[in-house]
Amino acid sequence: MALAHILGFPRIGAQRELKFAQEAFWRGDLTEAALRDVGADLRSRHWSLQKKAGLDAVSVGDFAWYDQVLNTLALLGGVPARFGFDPKNLSLSEYFTLARGNPQHFAMEMTKWFDTNYHYLVPEWTADTRFDGGVDWLFEELAEAQAQGHKAKLTLIGPVSLLYLGKIKSGLGHKLDLLPQLLPAYRKVLARLQAAGVEWVQIDEPVLTLELDAKWKTAFTPAYAELAQEAPKILLATYFESVAGHAELLHHLPVDGVHLDLVRSPAQLEPLLAHWPQGRVLSAGVVDGRNIWRTDLSEVLKQLQPLKQQLGEQLWIASSCSLLHVPVDLSFETSLDTEVKSWLAFATQKLDEIVALKQALNGQAAQVLPQFTASQVATHSRSVSSRIHNPLVKKRVDELTPADAQRNNAFSERIARQQARFNLPLFPTTTIGSFPQTKAIRQARAAHKRGDLGYLDYLDAMREEIRIVVEKQEQLDIDVLVHGEPERNDMVEYFGEQLWGYGFTLNGWVQSYGSRCVKPPFIYGDVYRPEAMTVGWSQFAQSLTSRPMKGMLTGPVTMLQWSFVRDDQPRETTALQIALALRDEVCDLEKAGIGMIQIDEPAFREGLPLKSGDWPHYLDWAVRAFKVCASGVADETQIHTHMCYSEFNDILPWIAAMDADVITIETSRSDMELLDGFGEFAYPNEIGPGVYDIHSPRVPRVPEMQRLLQKARGVIPDRRLWVNPDCGLKTRDWPETIAALENMVQAAKLLRASVSEHEEHEGNCC
Ligand code: GLN
Ligand code: ZN
Repeated sequence: MALAHILGFPRIGAQRELKFAQEAFWRGDLTEAALRDVGADLRSRHWSLQKKAGLDAVSVGDFAWYDQVLNTLALLGGVPARFGFDPKNLSLSEYFTLARGNPQHFAMEMTKWFDTNYHYLVPEWTADTRFDGGVDWLFEELAEAQAQGHKAKLTLIGPVSLLYLGKIKSGLGHKLDLLPQLLPAYRKVLARLQAAGVEWVQIDEPVLTLELDAKWKTAFTPAYAELAQEAPKILLATYFESVAGHAELLHHLPVDGVHLDLVRSPAQLEPLLAHWPQGRVLSAGVVDGRNIWRTDLSEVLKQLQPLKQQLGEQLWIASSCSLLHVPVDLSFETSLDTEVKSWLAFATQKLDEIVALKQALNGQAAQVLPQFTASQVATHSRSVSSRIHNPLVKKRVDELTPADAQRNNAFSERIARQQARFNLPLFPTTTIGSFPQTKAIRQARAAHKRGDLGYLDYLDAMREEIRIVVEKQEQLDIDVLVHGEPERNDMVEYFGEQLWGYGFTLNGWVQSYGSRCVKPPFIYGDVYRPEAMTVGWSQFAQSLTSRPMKGMLTGPVTMLQWSFVRDDQPRETTALQIALALRDEVCDLEKAGIGMIQIDEPAFREGLPLKSGDWPHYLDWAVRAFKVCASGVADETQIHTHMCYSEFNDILPWIAAMDADVITIETSRSDMELLDGFGEFAYPNEIGPGVYDIHSPRVPRVPEMQRLLQKARGVIPDRRLWVNPDCGLKTRDWPETIAALENMVQAAKLLRASVSEHEEHEGNCC
């Protein structure tokens, strides 16, 4: 008998119940008891779903009040000591303070969970970190599940991954130095679980999908030998990438089962199975936990049948990873096109798929299982549907030539023409695109969407906003203007809504961090731009000023990265389709007289694969997609790009290869750390390293920005240096925006004056 299970279920609730309860509790509108009730209800509902679907065990331990890593720290007693909380008696309020900070203590840092859009709280490791026991929440949840008659499989984040994902704060040579203290804490937990009658515990070690050095690798075997001494059976879970590189290590690990992500990496199966230890369970992650498509069950069944032959009872069927990364329930999507909807499966639907696979493997005729019939219909319709396949788009991608991804002339020639055209001063000033999105703007947009504000009135309202933004920028004496993006609710959604091939859900929320959820669009078909998307706005804005107005677009990689994407063609093909659609927009903007066009790629680095060996391939196609999008214009048209929220030093050569005439890039929060990379690599084009952080309402003073600019001048020649904030200003209020930009322009002017004085001085000497 094959068994069916999942690695975890989304905890937010189909109607984001957890979010609303958390936020009400933080506001003081909900008692702790009531919040706990909401959590218990959600857990109970999710376990029932799993049982009703026919899973062999329900997942316990995937619930977290804010984040699963923080829950693990709370369980083990390893929360940061700097807050002064007693780890043995951590209250829920204190737990939230760790995550959110308070006036005395800044919050724990947050970062992306591998290559997902989920953010975890980063453990803080110091020489004094201790793990001598924490909260009992996990055991209480287990008791709940058992009282409700469920067979529970527990899930925990493993000790090696936990250490790896933390950050050394002080006094510690290596994170693994904490392992000897951490293991007894895990042992205590495992022994308690065993005593409570738990048969299996799933221990997640996702770091096994990374390229680990010898020290990390050798930590596993002794650690697991120690853990296995008094514990339920251990299923070691890996996901998001192949672990074939660690085959040797895995074979000798004293665990009872291993979970593999066979959606991301089917190829790892062969090398790993070659020496699969006798009696070890293989949990086959075949239902995609990272995407929203209905599984092609017949295809997966074919893949599983030989495994069944080899492993018999030891084969389990599972989601590829936790279902945390997909929306909860498709049945709430009441306004999706029925054909498109028939292609989708959210977390709840994926449970049925896993169970159907198990039933078919255990001998039931696949043809009579409703999931198989539905999957067959969906697979067929996705292969032929005119909603997906647009021959025109495919032909354009096929016919792309290297010349299409190349500007007509080299940067040196282009910039000379651009300078002649725009005649900008030294250290030109600009902003990144958005200006404060006031309540009035958001209300007008929403009213228009609802149908309460007629199109012409809406147009008037937005034009008025643009007029104000242009006027303010002129008053501030900014050199290169933007229209402010009032018409955009979100930089991906705005374009997705105007492109064929993009779909949107009503309720497809996915947890991003804490109570924050995102509702990514999904790309189901060939991407096509039926008509211009931004030209009217940009042309209108340009008509208000004689200064250059930047057109403003979201780039192909970001459009891809922040959406659920097709699984029936390579990501790079989809990226090229988007790039072609945007290329048409770029050319239309040029035709309409817009001389500068910014193509934002904030998610460019986020798309990097987990294994550095796979970086070159990604970077090649990502750069190509950007260049396809940017290269249809004349030398005189200046292409800008913008990037933020990541470290760029290790990919600088590829950023340069994008060949944008100007890049504006976030760097002020790290005190221009970016510039360190310029020691080895001279960025060849123009660059605006952000001189102030837009995430804080604080108004930066002139000398601060001057200091950063002086630092930048150390590595960037004056004639290539721009002056701008780190990112868009949409989350800021007007007063602080004006004050900050006034100072920024002032800093640029002072710098200009000092340089020309210097030059004059030099001139007199000669
Ligand atoms: N142009 C966008 C804005 O200013 C860029 C946003 C971003 O980089 N995330 O809002
Ligand atoms: Zn940005």
